[in-house]
Amino acid sequence: MQILLVGAGLSGAVIARRLAEAGHDCHVIDQRDHIGGNCHTRRDGETGVMMHVYGPHIFHTDDQQVWDYVNRFAAFQPFRNRVKTTVGGKVYSLPINLLTINQFFGKAMRPDEAREFIDGLADHSITTPQSFEEQALRFVGADLYRAFFKGYTEKQWGCAPSELPAAILKRLPLRFDYDDNYFSHRFQGMPRDGYTPMIAAILDHPRITIDLSTPYSPDMAEQADHVFWSGPLDGYFDFQLGRLGYRTLDFERFTHDGDYQGCAVMNYGDREVPYTRITEHKHFSPWEQHERSVCYREYSRAAGPEDIPYYPIRLVREKALLQNYQRRAKATQGVTFVGRLGTYRYLDMDVTIREAMDTASLFESCLAKGDPM
Ligand code: UDP
Repeated sequence: MQILLVGAGLSGAVIARRLAEAGHDCHVIDQRDHIGGNCHTRRDGETGVMMHVYGPHIFHTDDQQVWDYVNRFAAFQPFRNRVKTTVGGKVYSLPINLLTINQFFGKAMRPDEAREFIDGLADHSITTPQSFEEQALRFVGADLYRAFFKGYTEKQWGCAPSELPAAILKRLPLRFDYDDNYFSHRFQGMPRDGYTPMIAAILDHPRITIDLSTPYSPDMAEQADHVFWSGPLDGYFDFQLGRLGYRTLDFERFTHDGDYQGCAVMNYGDREVPYTRITEHKHFSPWEQHERSVCYREYSRAAGPEDIPYYPIRLVREKALLQNYQRRAKATQGVTFVGRLGTYRYLDMDVTIREAMDTASLFESCLAKGDPM
């Protein structure tokens, strides 16, 4: 079969690889001049530091198969994301853990005491939190919510936390010990040479051809037996029903002699600071030595038609529009919508890979049954 994959990010690469190994000819196109989608990495020309060009990506998963899969294509180095946040002129540890709680309240509580103390601050009148704000008030109470989440979230999402789904906050753990690892997954690491060589290795198969700087056009689909679309869901339909909301990011690059901030990610919780965080990229590759450092100040804003879409907003009020596009997608024969943009979801890399593997397997089994997707 002739398969067209629109988008050379993780979804496109993993599906292409599976289907190429099953004997199909896979043609991968991307409108950008590089592979890797928003996971793309490259060395900074001035400092030699490995850059996460579209913002930080830290690999973490509980899925043994996904971990084995990425390790098949790249050498991974151990990496723990230890994020800090600056709030009111002080630096705190994230995710909220026993150190954060003791620092913030000026106490020296043990785990049980802190648990009881926070429970006393939590708003128990909220039984099933619906929004980000309710989730925060229910689990950490108003003081910690205002300091660490409210301002950051308003900057990141451009709306009130009461309009956002609770699921966004559920990404972050709350700990009553001194574990400051941002993630709780069993497997965590960073590809030694960056994500782009890993994705290049996934795509490196004789049955896969890649065309970069190549925008999609409908006549390409006519020549293919099936299309996997990892571009924006609304974009496939020429935005006929309206535009789904995205946040885009602006990165303000600056260099520094030595170590600028002492960690990879420093968040800024205060509303008055216009950026959400500063990432210092050499700390994403702690096994390398660099004297000069390069950082990104990260600003979030609503994506216009010409901007790169990063985060799907998924406001409660946009649900109907999304459902209409989903209905159209389902009714579109010969096209499967995949990945963060194709399904309009806030996806981590491991989930993206898992879903891509499953989608390719489903495609194969439907084909074997003579019932194409
Ligand atoms: N968040 C926050 N304060 C922080 C860090 C995160 O309020 O210091 C909220 C914010 O709404 C963010 C969400 O938690 O969008 C998820 O955070 P995560 O660090 O997972 O975001 P990502 O790295 O994917 O941008």
